Amino acid sequence: MKKILFILLTIIAPAIGFSQNKVKLIIDAGHGGNKDPKDAKSKYGDKESDFCLAFAQALYDYAKENNIDAVMTRTKKNQSLTFDQRSGYKSEPGVKTVYISFHFHAETAPNIRGAEVWYSSKTPNANTSKKLAEKLKASFERLNDYDVFIRDKEAVVFSKNDMPAVIIMGGYLTNDTELKHFKDEGYQKEMAVMIVKAVNEL
Ligand SMILES: [Zn+2]
Repeated sequence: MKKILFILLTIIAPAIGFSQNKVKLIIDAGHGGNKDPKDAKSKYGDKESDFCLAFAQALYDYAKENNIDAVMTRTKKNQSLTFDQRSGYKSEPGVKTVYISFHFHAETAPNIRGAEVWYSSKTPNANTSKKLAEKLKASFERLNDYDVFIRDKEAVVFSKNDMPAVIIMGGYLTNDTELKHFKDEGYQKEMAVMIVKAVNEL
């Protein structure tokens, strides 16, 4: 009986798009450790790397709750990674694998705000990455009620991972309104929900 069920499933599954619906997220929390000069800070001393980790963790938790496979490139605040440790990930056949990296900006002028979604037009997955960036822009604009910009950039995590990839620049640590959002677990969760929805729609 088990064998028949197995055979039936192997016949039916591709027909209903079963295998294509399998999703895996590679979630990268930017920066980390105590010696990263590019780890941006708010005027109160909040670190970009800590927010990267909080948003990455929220996405990981939400993915797992929804039976989506996920891995995090780093899981601890005081963990610093080389670019090689953030890349070299390979997508598995039949699994829609997507790489999502989190970063935040800082500026001297406190009124500068807004998110960006980066992708690279120079990778084999450029079209899918751009499509994901556009979906994320549309949903973040609904959440934030202001413009989100898509940027075509080059980055190691784009060139050295073989799957569609985006870097989410979540906003500015130097803008008090945005900083308040970043500390809000509800907001972190909403971002996670939007990201998973966008990936599922790809
Ligand atoms: Zn950064």
